[in-house]
Amino acid sequence: MAIIEVTKLSKSFGTLDVLKQVTFTVNKHDVVAVIGPSGSGKSTMLRSLVNLEQINGGSINVAGEFLVKDGIYSRPQEIKRITSKMGMVFQHFNLFPHLTVKENLELAPRLVKGETAEEVARRSEELLEKVGLSSRALDYPSKLSGGQKQRVAIARALMMNPDILLFDEPTSALDPELTGEVLQVMKDLAEEHMTMIVVTHEMGFAKEVAGQVMFIDNGEIVESGPPDQIFTSPQFDRTKLFLNRVL
Ligand code: ADP
Ligand code: MG
Repeated sequence: MAIIEVTKLSKSFGTLDVLKQVTFTVNKHDVVAVIGPSGSGKSTMLRSLVNLEQINGGSINVAGEFLVKDGIYSRPQEIKRITSKMGMVFQHFNLFPHLTVKENLELAPRLVKGETAEEVARRSEELLEKVGLSSRALDYPSKLSGGQKQRVAIARALMMNPDILLFDEPTSALDPELTGEVLQVMKDLAEEHMTMIVVTHEMGFAKEVAGQVMFIDNGEIVESGPPDQIFTSPQFDRTKLFLNRVL
C-alpha cells in the first residue's frame, strides 16, 4: 500500500531546475534508499516532502492526503497535520545545543502536542533506551560524540510518533568508526517495519536494508528497483557510471 505518492514534482531555484517531474511511490513499511551524486536534488526532494521547500508543480500525497495537488498547496492547518506524519533526521543532527538530551526529546511533544510531563518523560526514557543512550539523558549535546548525537536526533524524531522517517545523509558527518552505531539503530527500525526514506552514500546499508533503491541524477529519477537489480544489473549508463565511482 502506498503511503507516499509523488507525481511530477518540479522544483527550481531561480532558473535552476533542481527536480524535473519526479514521480515515485513509497509503500508502507518499505525502506527506500536514495542514491545519487552531490547536487542531484536529493535533499531538496526530502525537504519538499516535509514542506521545508515549496515546490513549483506536481503533487505530494501522504497517507491519502494531498500536501500539494497539481502545484496547489493545502491550507496551513492541513499542511501541518500532513507533515507531522513525517520525522526528519538531518546530516548535522540539528539538536538544540542549550537543551539537555532529555529536553531535546521532550520539547516538541510538549509544545506541539501538549503532552504532559509524565507522558513525555516515559517515552523519552523508552526511546533513549532504544538508541542505547539511557545514561546520557541529562547531558548537553556538546558532551556527546557525533554518533551519539545522531542517535539522539533519531530518538527525538520518534518522540512525535511519525508514520514515516526521512534521513538526509545521516552518517555523512560522522567519523567512519561511528557510522555503524547509527546504521544499527536504523536497521532496528527497519526490522520493526518503520517506513523510511534514506538518502545515503552507504551502499552496504542500501543493499542490506532497503527494499527499493532510487538513483537520482541531475534532478531526475534515472531508475529505481530492488537493490539486487540496481546494484548488479543497472539499466542505464548514468547509473553504471555512478556505481563504478562509489562501489
Ligand atoms: P543533493 O542533496 O543531491 O546534494 P540538493 O538538493 O542539496 O542536492 O541541491 C540540488 C541543487 O539545488 C544544487 O545545485 C544546489 O546548489 C541547489 N540548491 C539547493 N538549495 C538551494 C537554495 N536554497 N537556493 C539555491 N540553490 C539551491
Ligand atoms: Mg544533500
